[in-house]
Amino acid sequence: TMAPVPSTMKAVYINKAGGPEVLEYKTDVPVPTPIDGEILIKNDFVGINFIDTYFRSGLYKAPQFPYILGREAEGTVVAVGPGDVLDFKVGDRVVWLGESAYAEFATIPASKAAKVPSSFKPGTAAAALLQGLTALTLVREAYHVNKGDWVLVHAAAGGTGLLLSQLLKAIGANIIGTVSTPEKAELAKQNGVTHTINYSHEDVKARVLELTGGQGCIAVFDGVGKSTFDLSLECVARKGSLLSFGNASGAVPPVTIARLAAKNVRLMRPSLFGYIVTREEFVGYTEDLFGFIEKEGFNVRVHETYPLSEVARAHGDLEGRKTTGKLLIDPSK
Ligand code: NDP
Repeated sequence: TMAPVPSTMKAVYINKAGGPEVLEYKTDVPVPTPIDGEILIKNDFVGINFIDTYFRSGLYKAPQFPYILGREAEGTVVAVGPGDVLDFKVGDRVVWLGESAYAEFATIPASKAAKVPSSFKPGTAAAALLQGLTALTLVREAYHVNKGDWVLVHAAAGGTGLLLSQLLKAIGANIIGTVSTPEKAELAKQNGVTHTINYSHEDVKARVLELTGGQGCIAVFDGVGKSTFDLSLECVARKGSLLSFGNASGAVPPVTIARLAAKNVRLMRPSLFGYIVTREEFVGYTEDLFGFIEKEGFNVRVHETYPLSEVARAHGDLEGRKTTGKLLIDPSK
């Protein structure tokens, strides 16, 4: 039997944009009520993503204040709203993408939830979903990677980087990964990266050209943004694709499209959310991702599970480049 749903909960919200200090830990936030087509989830594990820091810092504008951050979590359905909630019922174990995840409870559209495979360890689904779907859509839609392709992945030991590297390895690509420390290089190699480059002191362009016989990489996956954009353009092959999918080091300044002409480069700025709009897209990619974890033994590395009360420390660690793999939150603490 399940405990009754309380009226208030622990949550972390922001009342203004700023550094990690604007994250406010509260214990008396009203538990939301599911409206048409929504389900109410009791979260057990909340995933932290770099995008959370953008909404906190003001790089991306919060829709309102106070605003509860967080885009994904794993937990149990504790109530269903009116209308079409698909086949979800109270007691189901689910993982979801939506908003306001830094809390003990969240309401989400049923269409953005998926059942957690029974073989998964607690936390794995929350650790894999957003970054795993990002990696999957990057290699299938943003640029369709083929066996034998030479590809460059920046921040290869990060949350998205480790999953992207494993996917690229499964496809049979030749992967060059950038990292900032020897420990991160080792981890990237364990997750499929063929050649690592420490971009804090090595000449990345020279190494990439040397490794690729002067050709460069047919696809460059760049989630670092401002500090790597020019480098990425230098490393991309003739007729190659530069997939600029994030701003961990800051937003990429405006680009003059004439710069793409020298090598007939395709430049794209893909967003996961634009690839999983329909239920079919969301379910299809999620099932494929879970398949890689269940059948191909993908490693879903968790850096640390932080108490909700210490989310500010988690943001500091992520922005301070101190983490590898996924950061999770335990919303009960
Ligand atoms: P990560 O775990 O990859 O953390 C970011 C990593 O970026 C750091 O660990 C660090 O690795 C590297 N980095 C390089 N320069 C900086 C800097 N100045 N400040 C901070 N980090 C830096 O985070 P995520 O996996 O959550 O996200 C990675 C990127 O992917 C982000 O830009 C994110 O916005 C983007 N993303 C985009 C999505 C989309 O739909 N477009 C979806 C999901 C993520 P190192 O120390 O090795 O340099």
